[in-house]
Amino acid sequence: MAEFSIIRDYCQGIGPQHHSTRIDIGDDAAVFEPPNDQDIAISTDTMVEGVHFLEGTPASHLAHKILSVNCSDMAAMGALPKYATMALTIPSVNTEWLAEFSSGLKAQAEHYQVQLIGGDTTNGNLTLSCTIIGLLDKSKVLSRGNAKLGDDVYVSGCVGDAALGLANLQGKIALEKSLETQVQMAHYRPQARVELGLGLLNIANACIDVSDGLVADLTHICHQSQLAMEINVDAIPVSAAYKSVFDVNSKQQMDFALYGGDDYELAFTVKPERRGEVKDLSKALGLPLSKIGSVTRSTGSSVCLRQGDNVLPAAKNLGFEHFTD
Ligand code: ADP
Ligand code: MG
Repeated sequence: MAEFSIIRDYCQGIGPQHHSTRIDIGDDAAVFEPPNDQDIAISTDTMVEGVHFLEGTPASHLAHKILSVNCSDMAAMGALPKYATMALTIPSVNTEWLAEFSSGLKAQAEHYQVQLIGGDTTNGNLTLSCTIIGLLDKSKVLSRGNAKLGDDVYVSGCVGDAALGLANLQGKIALEKSLETQVQMAHYRPQARVELGLGLLNIANACIDVSDGLVADLTHICHQSQLAMEINVDAIPVSAAYKSVFDVNSKQQMDFALYGGDDYELAFTVKPERRGEVKDLSKALGLPLSKIGSVTRSTGSSVCLRQGDNVLPAAKNLGFEHFTD
């Protein structure tokens, strides 16, 4: 099958046709007209087989995840995702795989209202690389570097399920069937918190999406804001499935929630005076927003984990690093 037929059959007509798009798939480049009163946010995330996902992961899950993780980067900036390009590297032309990937991508592109406006198709080890383009009201943005001393620290939803799902898929942790499905889906099919990001634009000081693990990502906010945090481990939200897996007294109980990745929740800091606004936003979105700590002065280590009267030792390996020896 020629590259051109792959593009025609599996890449065209994905997502809504935005009025602002002047040229999309089929030309040498896509062209769109940005609104006068908005800035453009742009980001790329790549997923490599065997590195970011397990071999044999169903194509529909891959389509879901590649778009969600990219939209999550927009959410963390308070931007509305609008266009995407997809560089698709495939080891062979498997039309069944392509059809499943394409229809999965279509569903997610509709969900996020993102139009696929271009990409590239090449032969090689299975790799998905998506560039997402979003819009942002001029002069507004959420960033990692704007936390303020005394801010409350929050995280949305629950953390830890995705890492638990991965451990389960790798055969490291056995679970009963109903829990298994829930945590595996948390790993395979995360949801980007786009509406939350938009809502936080007027409320939060700093924001990040939890992709590398809660502690690692909070550490990014600390470094870029030149401040530290005190986190109350008992306040970190975990699902009922998560709780049921661990003995409450087990030392490792919170490890997946603290250091696991791939949750794609938003962690953010807010001035304490604005707690009411966070509550209202949580209610409006039907999404729990849990206060887990506060921003403190920097004194060496960035994120101090407290559990009751104890300070937990800092973990050596934070998050996922690609280039460690
Ligand atoms: P070129 O030879 O100019 O690089 P290509 O043949 O690679 O063009 O691509 C033709 C058109 O199809 C371009 O508009 C490109 O953006 C689009 N395209 C190629 N691969 C994909 C893909 N995987 N997803 C979406 N669009 C794609
Ligand atoms: Mg090309």
